[in-house]
Amino acid sequence: MTQYRSSFISCDFDFDANGKHYGAAHLDYSNDEGASRVFPIPIVSITNGDGPTVLLTAGNHGNEDEGQLILRRLIADISPENVQGRIIALPALNYPAVRANTRTSPLDGGNLNRCFPASTVAGPTDGIARFVVDALLPLADAGVDLHAGGASAKYVNTTFLCTCEDAAVFRKSFDLAKAFNAPYMYVVDGRGSPTGFDPAAHAAAVPFISTELGGGWIDREALEVGYQGVRNVLAHLGIIATSEVRTESGQITYLDARKSEGVVYAPHEGLFESRIDLGEEVEAGQTAGVLYSLDEVDRPPTVLNFPDAGIVCAKHISARVVSGTRTYITVKTATEHAFLTSVDD
Ligand SMILES: [Zn+2]
Repeated sequence: MTQYRSSFISCDFDFDANGKHYGAAHLDYSNDEGASRVFPIPIVSITNGDGPTVLLTAGNHGNEDEGQLILRRLIADISPENVQGRIIALPALNYPAVRANTRTSPLDGGNLNRCFPASTVAGPTDGIARFVVDALLPLADAGVDLHAGGASAKYVNTTFLCTCEDAAVFRKSFDLAKAFNAPYMYVVDGRGSPTGFDPAAHAAAVPFISTELGGGWIDREALEVGYQGVRNVLAHLGIIATSEVRTESGQITYLDARKSEGVVYAPHEGLFESRIDLGEEVEAGQTAGVLYSLDEVDRPPTVLNFPDAGIVCAKHISARVVSGTRTYITVKTATEHAFLTSVDD
C-alpha cells in the first residue's frame, strides 16, 4: 500500500494488488469558492503477476481530450488476465484543469507540464508534479504522456520524444516511440524544456515519450492512432501479447526539431486565411496564408511566408489570430539514423 502525504496531495492506493483497481490521489485545496475542497485525481491499476510497469497519463493539459478518451477506452478494454505486469493509468492527471476544460489549472494558473520536477512545491499544480516524481515514476519501467493540440492548435498524429543525457534512457525512449508507430516521430532537445514531464522521467531513468494527437475537434483517426499506439507500446514491453495488437507497421516520418522549428507568427491581430494543410511539405518563402486586419477593411492583406522548408506539423485552428500567434509550425525531416548516432550535436 502506497501512503503518500504532501502539503497538497494524499494518496492511499495499493499499487501491488492484482486485478483492476480504481482509486484516486486527493488534491486538497481551499480558495474563495470553498473553505476546503478535495479534487480526486483518478488512478487505475491493471495488474497481473510479475512484469514491467508502464505509467500512462493524459489530461496533463486539461483541455486535451484525445488522450483522456484513449486511456478511458483502454481501461475499459483491458482485463487483468490479458496483462503480464502492471499498467498504471491516470487519465485526468491535472484533474482541476480537466474539470474546468482548460489547459492550465484554474486553482493557481499552473501549467503542469512546466512544473516538473517541482523541487519546491509552491501550489497545487506543483503538488501534482511532485506526486508524480515521488510516488509514480519510482514504480515505472516506462511511460507515455498523451497530449494533443487542445482548443487552439491541431498537430499531425505524432509521438514526441525529448533527447536526454543518458544514452541508454534515450535509446529505450526512442524504441518506445518507434513501437508506438504513429505516422510521425517529433524529436526535440530535452534540455530546452527542463520543467516538462518527459525530462523529469528521463532524469529518474524512466524511458518516456509523449504524443501530440490532433487537436481542435475530436478526430477519429487521431484516437485510433493513439489507441493502437498505446497498445503497441504495451506489447513492446511484454505487458500484453503481440497477438493483441495490429501488426501492420507503417512508415514513420522522422521530424528533427532538436535545433529549430520553423514558426510562422502573426504580425498583427486579424483574420488569417491559411493556405496549407497539416502534413504538407513546404519550401522556405512559400506562402502560408494571408492575414486581414480585423478593423481596417481597406488595408491590403499581409502575406505570411514559411521561414523554413519542412513538414507542416502544427497549425492554429482558428482564423482569429493576435500579434504573436503561431499560425504554423514546420519541422525538417531526418533519418532514423540521425537520432541514434548523435544525440547532442
Ligand atoms: Zn498538452
